[in-house]
Amino acid sequence: MPSHDLEKFIAGFERFQQQYYGEDNSRIEELAQGQHPTSLLIGCSDSRVDPGLLMGAEPGDVFVSRNIANMVPPCEICQGTHHGVSAAIQFAVEQLKVERIIVLGHARCGGIRALMRGVPTSDSPFDFVSAWVGIGAAAKRSTLSAFGHASFEVQCRVCEQSSILNSLNNLMTYPWVREAIDQGKLSIHGWYFDLDRGELLAYSKRTGAFLPMVSALERSPANPESASGVET
Ligand SMILES: [Zn+2]
Repeated sequence: MPSHDLEKFIAGFERFQQQYYGEDNSRIEELAQGQHPTSLLIGCSDSRVDPGLLMGAEPGDVFVSRNIANMVPPCEICQGTHHGVSAAIQFAVEQLKVERIIVLGHARCGGIRALMRGVPTSDSPFDFVSAWVGIGAAAKRSTLSAFGHASFEVQCRVCEQSSILNSLNNLMTYPWVREAIDQGKLSIHGWYFDLDRGELLAYSKRTGAFLPMVSALERSPANPESASGVET
């Protein structure tokens, strides 16, 4: 990592420290007693889609689990294996009793591209990426059946969104998720961050489509004055 990155991170922590451990440290004192987030967000590890940054969240606001391509695996018998995402979901639902689970997908997702390309990332028996993104195999199948003749870019975008729905379906395979939903204590949501347009979309069950929750900013057409930097 270039040293300027490290300096940036240290300066960033100093700003955080000033904000929360300065004269008014009441929020941190409160949080030291325990966290009570109302949402679990399952997002992608992609450096461009930090949920806290995107949503202006503060400490204690949101419980987050990030992984490649924001996938939720189906519930499996534990058998002593290591299921990080499943553990995060269980903790959020059973212990924190969150009110909602949001699966946040995004445009230009490298994990979804790997899924759509369908080639192992390496021949190594330790190739975890290919196996992981394979969770979205059903989303890939539905994308190829409906958009088989579309460009690869279009297919990726379609799959990014259908993979969110696949994860929502997989969420329903966890017994404590289904139970909390049946009891009206929990809801699940599919969101999509359009990185190109700066839009936030949400899946609408009624229309069966992702619709803007926050639309793209309207940009005035380029004109000579703004191009020359003159403020109007
Ligand atoms: Zn991604």
